[in-house]
Amino acid sequence: MIVIMRMGASAEEIQSVVDRISGLGFRTHMSQGEERTIIGVIGDERPVNKDSLARMQGVERIVPILRPYKLASRDFQPHDTLIEINPLAKTGDYRGCTVGGKRLTIIAGPCAVESREQILETAQIVKEAGAHMLRGGAYKPRTSPYSFQGLGEDALVYLAEARQATGLPIVTEIMAPEQIPLLTKYADVLQIGTRNMQNYALLHAVGEAGFPVLLKRGMMCTIEELLMSAEYILSHGNRKVMLCERGIRTFETYTRNTLDINAVPVLKELTHLPVIVDPSHATGKWNLVSAVSRASVAAGADGLIVEVHPHPEKALSDGGQSLRSARFAEMMTQLRRVADAVGRTL
Ligand code: PEP
Ligand code: MN
Repeated sequence: MIVIMRMGASAEEIQSVVDRISGLGFRTHMSQGEERTIIGVIGDERPVNKDSLARMQGVERIVPILRPYKLASRDFQPHDTLIEINPLAKTGDYRGCTVGGKRLTIIAGPCAVESREQILETAQIVKEAGAHMLRGGAYKPRTSPYSFQGLGEDALVYLAEARQATGLPIVTEIMAPEQIPLLTKYADVLQIGTRNMQNYALLHAVGEAGFPVLLKRGMMCTIEELLMSAEYILSHGNRKVMLCERGIRTFETYTRNTLDINAVPVLKELTHLPVIVDPSHATGKWNLVSAVSRASVAAGADGLIVEVHPHPEKALSDGGQSLRSARFAEMMTQLRRVADAVGRTL
C-alpha cells in the first residue's frame, strides 16, 4: 500500500508516518512528487491497521496497490524515473547522460568485445554518430558452450580505455553475483540478459550493489514477470533500473525474435522506469534494425540498445544483426526526425 500525504504536510508529519511504519517492521520508500509526498510500505502489509495509519496527522489517504509489483508501478510513483549515468567519478572525463528524460538514450556497440582495436574503433564510430553510451559484452551467455564466450577482464580493461577515449559510459552484461566487484570497477551499467531475467540471486545482488541496471525481458516472460523481476532489484533500494524489450519467442521464424511493440506503451503506462528497446536481438537481421528502431521511438521508448560492428562479417557473435558504421550513422539521422515528431530529442 501507499500512504499519500496531504499537500503541504510538514516534515514532522511525514517523519512520524515513516516512524510508525518502520516501527511495525516495514521498510519505506519515499516518492517526493511536485505537490505531495507518497510513502510506500514495503513488505506484506496485510496485518497493518490501515485505519489508524489513515488517521495520522498529514495523511490524506491510504491506497492499496493491487498489482503484484509495487515499487515499479506508476500508482506508487507517478513521475518518470530519471537515471543519472555519470562516469566522472571513475575517469575524470565527463560525458554522463540521463536515461528517461526528453532526450533519448542511444546505447551502441558490438555484441562482444573482441579486441582492443575493435572496441576502440567502434567506440569512436558510435560517438561520432551521436550515441550516448557504449555497449560490449565481456562475458557472453552463448547458447553453445563452444561459441566465443568473451574476453573476460581483458575486455573490461579495453572498455574502460574506450570510455577514457570517448567519454561514453559503459554497458556490459553480468552473469553471476560474484562478478559484481569486478564489473562495477569498470562499467557504468550492468546489463542482465534475457536468460537471467529470473535469476533471483543475481537480481538480489545487483539490487544490493545499488548500481544502474539494464534489465532485459526474458525471451519467454510476460510483461508482468519483467516488472516483478525489476521489483526484486527495487526492493533492495536500488532505484536505477532500466527495462529492455528485446523481442520474445513466437511461432514466427523469419526473425530471430518478435519485437513486442505493445510492451513499450504498456510499460510506459504501468511503470515509471525507463524503457529501452533492443532492435538487434528482436530482429536478428541488420536490415530490419533501422525500421524497428524508428517504430520503437515512435511508440514511446526512452532509448535503444543497438549492435554496431566496424566489420560485421568478421564478428565473433551476432554479426548478422550488427550495423556497420555508415548504416548506424544513417539510422541516427533518420531517428532524429522521428524523435522530433514525437517531442523527443536525440
Ligand atoms: C546481448 O545484448 O548481446 C544479449 C546477449 O542480449 P539478450 O540477453 O537480449 O539475448
Ligand atoms: Mn548480441
